[in-house]
Amino acid sequence: MTAATYDVVVVGAGIVGAACALECAQAELSVAVVDGDMIGGGATAAGMGHIVVMDDSDAQFALTRYSQQLWQQLRPELPEDVENVQCGTIWVAADDEEMAEVHRKRSYYNARGVPVEVLSAEDLERLEPKLRKGLAGGLLVPEDGVLYPPCAAHFLLEEAQRHGAKAHIGSQVTQIGSGRVRMADRTEFSAGIIVNAAGAWAPELTHGISVKKRKGHLVITDRYPGFVRHQLVELGYLKSAHSVSSDSVAFNVQPRRTGQVLIGSSRQYGAEHKEVDHEILSRMLQRAQSYMPALAQTSAIRVWTGFRAATPDKLPLIGPWSGDSTVYLATGHEGLGITTSLATGRLLVDQLVNRSSDIAREPYLPSRAATPEHAHA
Ligand SMILES: Cc1cc2nc3c(=O)[nH]c(=O)nc-3n(C[C@H](O)[C@H](O)[C@H](O)COP(=O)(O)OP(=O)(O)OC[C@H]3O[C@@H](n4cnc5c(N)ncnc54)[C@H](O)[C@@H]3O)c2cc1C
Repeated sequence: MTAATYDVVVVGAGIVGAACALECAQAELSVAVVDGDMIGGGATAAGMGHIVVMDDSDAQFALTRYSQQLWQQLRPELPEDVENVQCGTIWVAADDEEMAEVHRKRSYYNARGVPVEVLSAEDLERLEPKLRKGLAGGLLVPEDGVLYPPCAAHFLLEEAQRHGAKAHIGSQVTQIGSGRVRMADRTEFSAGIIVNAAGAWAPELTHGISVKKRKGHLVITDRYPGFVRHQLVELGYLKSAHSVSSDSVAFNVQPRRTGQVLIGSSRQYGAEHKEVDHEILSRMLQRAQSYMPALAQTSAIRVWTGFRAATPDKLPLIGPWSGDSTVYLATGHEGLGITTSLATGRLLVDQLVNRSSDIAREPYLPSRAATPEHAHA
């Protein structure tokens, strides 16, 4: 039975699906969002919410910077519960080799108009006194920030609904293609375009796409206001995040507006179960304490896991799928989907309504050739 007809049906009400729905509705397309679970309950609920400019590749830089600017434009409208704070990132360098990376990053960002500041060991100690002594320095990126992803997804979807979008939450989709979206209860929507924004579950609906689950763990502490002031990420993190085969952990902590400290992060391929893996969790916490020894005195109140949707080249898939002219993909955002959600929605709808884009969209087209791997949180 066909329940309704839309210009666009978006499958997935995570932050990416919500951003796509909002862009569709603002472009006056009739749009519905369908999710089998809840709004922002997938990777979006698990993510750190670091809005970060990254430079593992020019394409990654372009997408993250563009999206960060879209978040800045939206900032005056974001409700309190989105907890958007422009706290800045400090990339922490442990030794001279990592200081060389600080200088490389500084040149790259400077050349592209992103404000940054090189920090000496003394600056680092002054800005973040809980870091261990003896670190080499760091790079401050003041325009980076944080937000609370599930509330951001709710906000984007509510905005979409205010512009006429429909939300069908609690409807599991079993099949998409040929302009039809079939639900588990056998009802169907008919759509000119179906957007697969099902995150790490996207391959279940669009077989053969190159998206794999990459599991991550996070820990949140009780409230310790002022314990940490910036998002702190070890530069050595780049070494671990780029590992394709082995499990990895890195020091990555975030101040929440509540005064809590969010501690990450881990990466695992081939771990399909969502239960906490105590071995990797303990490695992750040891790593965090090696940079911030005082974390050992804090109380953790919750630990959780989530699944990043990883592509081989660590760039998302945004655009038409070659297997069916009615299916578009908006998935594969790995550790950057909170940051890049708004740019994804914008680039997707640019393609749907045939308007030009502010940045080149070719690097993210699903039809691109595979390129070497890069990654984030
Ligand atoms: C530990 C961790 C830390 C992270 N930290 C950051 C960070 O600091 N900054 C950042 O930018 N990104 C971060 N990320 C990445 C970010 O969380 C994701 O890239 C982003 O949330 C992806 O959003 P999404 O909407 O594509 O997917 P999801 O949020 O997973 O949403 C997919 C939705 O699709 C629905 N769905 C799936 N299959 C079906 C179906 N068959 N029928 C109906 N509905 C379906 C699911 O219920 C879900 O709601 C992190 C991720 C993890 C795991």
